[in-house]
Amino acid sequence: MGNWKKAILQSITTPQELSKVFPIDTNAITQVTKRYPMRITQYYLSLIKYCEDPIWRQCVPDSKELLEDNLKIDPLNESSFSPIPGLIHRYPDRVLLLVSSSCATICRFCLRKSWVGSDFGTPIKELIEQAIIYIRKYPKIRDVILSGGDPLLLEDEIIEEILERLRKIPHIEIIRIGTRIPVTLPERITHHLCKILKHYHPIYVNTHFNHPQEITPESSAACQELVDAGCPLGNQTVLLKGVNDDPEVMRQLMQKLLAIRVRPYYLHHMDPVRGTSHFRTSIDVGLNIMSQLRGYTSGLAVPYYVIDLPGGLGKVPILPDNIKKEGGKLILRNYLGQWVEYQDID
Ligand SMILES: *Cc1c(COP(=O)(O)O)cnc(C)c1O
Ligand code: SF4
Repeated sequence: MGNWKKAILQSITTPQELSKVFPIDTNAITQVTKRYPMRITQYYLSLIKYCEDPIWRQCVPDSKELLEDNLKIDPLNESSFSPIPGLIHRYPDRVLLLVSSSCATICRFCLRKSWVGSDFGTPIKELIEQAIIYIRKYPKIRDVILSGGDPLLLEDEIIEEILERLRKIPHIEIIRIGTRIPVTLPERITHHLCKILKHYHPIYVNTHFNHPQEITPESSAACQELVDAGCPLGNQTVLLKGVNDDPEVMRQLMQKLLAIRVRPYYLHHMDPVRGTSHFRTSIDVGLNIMSQLRGYTSGLAVPYYVIDLPGGLGKVPILPDNIKKEGGKLILRNYLGQWVEYQDID
């Protein structure tokens, strides 16, 4: 058995196990885990420095998850963009495949909170069969995103089978993998896995770091392996109250990502998902962070700040206001807040 599979078996899934390491109210947490499962790898747990620190908040269940928040289980209406279970087709040219319903560490703020970690979902073989048939039928689809759950929790052979079958479809140009494995179970990024990925390029990997404390020798090494295997590595961060809703923390995170060859891609505004209201910030918080990145650090360190419109109407990039028209003149604002006239063509 690979070391990473042992690490999964040794991960913490009950409040009782957690209470051996941290002083927690096991009764309160048991109420939460009855509804939303818990899983924390020993590695991710080891990154916690103190109770309720930014790592803790992301993975330790909280009674606030049970608050009556009037939020939806599926605010992006993914189910109605799902022609077959496990496949989401919201944009004409790309599809999302939910190939795994589990994660190495379950994030408390997860968009698919009511689905991740539970066992329901289509068996993977059947999903692959149906997805391949569907994608073959739509020549407009040129980009397939493997998501979940975490695709890299699948066995190497299954990952290879999915990649091989997708690559046989002539209109598929790129394959993307969305994974938090480099952050929560870095030892899963093995030479063998990387060798497989190398065979099916172009493969883009998007990972999910939310805090500078997650950038460690282990997670850096996992990212290096992926980049060395030829996978351009991007990062999607979720803006989380009490975790990274601070310009200085975010700047450090983005710069540290570049230093390990990971390119910041999206900063996601929290989706209004049931059980996650305690993580939500206002849009002003995100805009303020963006205005303190642009100009103050490498342009490469600046992600797009995006909001997924409720109902499934797509992602919208949000920018601090930096353009206005006055008396037919175009005026642009730079990062210092100076308004400068710009001569546009007629
Ligand atoms: C975010 C998302 C994508 C990919 O969007 P990009 O902007 O191309 O990264 C595709 N499908 C769905 C359903 C998504 O939510
Ligand atoms: S890694 Fe992604 S899919 Fe898995 S629990 Fe975290 S946010 Fe959800």
